[in-house]
Amino acid sequence: MLIDEQNFRYTKKWAKNDRTFWQCAERDSRKCSARATTIPDGKITKLSGEHNHLSDIVDLCVKVKEREILNKAVKESKLAPREALADLAASLNTPAMMSKMSNSSNFIRRIHYGRKVNSG
Ligand SMILES: [Zn+2]
Repeated sequence: MLIDEQNFRYTKKWAKNDRTFWQCAERDSRKCSARATTIPDGKITKLSGEHNHLSDIVDLCVKVKEREILNKAVKESKLAPREALADLAASLNTPAMMSKMSNSSNFIRRIHYGRKVNSG
């Protein structure tokens, strides 16, 4: 497994001489054709093709933010779940991040569930 600076993941395809050729880990699931070439120390010497999807880092950022706001909303029972949802939307500042956000009713359900669990 190879991970580039933007957190795109690649799986090993083949090696020839001192070059290893990698293809995007999403090749099969998303038909992504991006590729990478590395030299023996693991350094990426060439990236080709465009990824047709977002890198995992966007996903991760959104998940961390959601968790943070969810925890806050669960603790502060006076905060309306709708307001927590608005906070979340406001904190995701790019369309790419917005597109990774959980479904809003699902997010609100998780707040209610968290509060129920917390109250015993
Ligand atoms: Zn890709």
